[in-house]
Amino acid sequence: MSSVIRNLEEIRGRLPENVTLVAVSKTKPNEMILEAYGAGQRIFGENKVQELTDKAEALPGDIEWHMIGHLQRNKVKYIAPFVSLIHGVDSLRLLRAINKEGVKNDRVIPCLLQMHIASEETKFGLDETELNELLESPDYKSFLNVEIRGLMGMATFTNDETIVAKEFRSLKNIFDRVRNEYFKNDSSFSVLSMGMSGDYQLAIAEGSNMVRVGSSIFGERNYQ
Ligand SMILES: *Cc1c(COP(=O)(O)O)cnc(C)c1O
Repeated sequence: MSSVIRNLEEIRGRLPENVTLVAVSKTKPNEMILEAYGAGQRIFGENKVQELTDKAEALPGDIEWHMIGHLQRNKVKYIAPFVSLIHGVDSLRLLRAINKEGVKNDRVIPCLLQMHIASEETKFGLDETELNELLESPDYKSFLNVEIRGLMGMATFTNDETIVAKEFRSLKNIFDRVRNEYFKNDSSFSVLSMGMSGDYQLAIAEGSNMVRVGSSIFGERNYQ
């Protein structure tokens, strides 16, 4: 059995039933993706628009492609026709651009709002005030071609599990509050995307229901 399939099955064995696995295939060749596909994996995550569109074109049409990286407004048009979920929406301007492309493609594009939970300055994401402002803006309420399915976040890159768990817990609390305040009658707001290779078990313990796992399935990457 190939290591990709072995890794995939090992991780699946550790995931509770309610947790969705996004296999993060960035920088990895199509052959490896096809191995995982052959083992039943259908959801793959990429963080670069060009790579995502190239792979989507070359690989089976029933793959659900998730855009997990930072997305520039001028590149939304390339993925809008087919993307299944955009994880990294961190501004009203980006959401407006996605909505516009949704209109052009006559589809409602599922999105997650990315929250800034890590202590590092470099990670993208909204703080709670910005999140509230976005959800309360009349502009957002007028967008008919995007659907906010939930929240996404990345913890600080550290071996200190206390810090990581605390950050995941804070995101879960924000998720629960936002669902109660803004999406009470909207069951499609249901996704909490947190956890990667190094911390997905911690994330699940804190309430994640979507994990984005790359290197533990496909091996280490040479670049991000
Ligand atoms: C690369 C990446 C992952 C996967 O990281 P691994 O540590 O390889 O599992 C998850 N989420 C995002 C946003 C990423 O860019």
